[in-house]
Amino acid sequence: MMLLQLDALMTALLIALFLLLLTTLLPWLISVTSSKSKVVKEELVELVGCPKCGYESSRKYEKGDYVGKVVGTCPKDSNSLIVKAIYVEKHTYAQ
Ligand SMILES: [Zn+2]
Repeated sequence: MMLLQLDALMTALLIALFLLLLTTLLPWLISVTSSKSKVVKEELVELVGCPKCGYESSRKYEKGDYVGKVVGTCPKDSNSLIVKAIYVEKHTYAQ
């Protein structure tokens, strides 16, 4: 009788351990499988804007560009367009 109770306790412990392992491994497993099916593309883009009227537009970063550089003229009021920010944009594609 004693032995049978111990056996049941061991089984319960094993099940609990298995469930614990499963809950800790599951998020990791999901992240591994989902990251494999996606392609991440990083692109350097810059935000250009007109300081006078507030016109803003984003475009691909061009070599040599920096924040504050005059890159053209505003389509609204012909004032100078300047680079306001340069940042990396991440695009994820599902395979
Ligand atoms: Zn403008």
